[in-house]
Amino acid sequence: MDVNESLRRRFLKVGAAALATIPVLAVCGRADAATNAAVRTSLKYQGKPEGDKSCGNCMQFVPGKTAKDLGGCKVIAGDTEISPQGYCLAWVKKP
Ligand code: SF4
Repeated sequence: MDVNESLRRRFLKVGAAALATIPVLAVCGRADAATNAAVRTSLKYQGKPEGDKSCGNCMQFVPGKTAKDLGGCKVIAGDTEISPQGYCLAWVKKP
């Protein structure tokens, strides 16, 4: 086996390990994700804005890592899947 063959085999092994890790990360990344269906329903939560009202400009919204990431809501306990583009009846304008 020459050096190039050895490097190629090593590269393939690392690549295979990386590919095998992706589904695990995808599952782990959502391990703490949760929704609160009962409260969502009672507040008529929807995954889209209502006019210019959205979770992103609601004072109850708890932002995710970035402005586009899913976050939480002080009204919908335990829910970590609130879209900044969502909306519900408990919307209150962020000051
Ligand atoms: Fe979104 Fe409603 Fe929570 Fe405001 S109260 S952040 S509109 S889910």
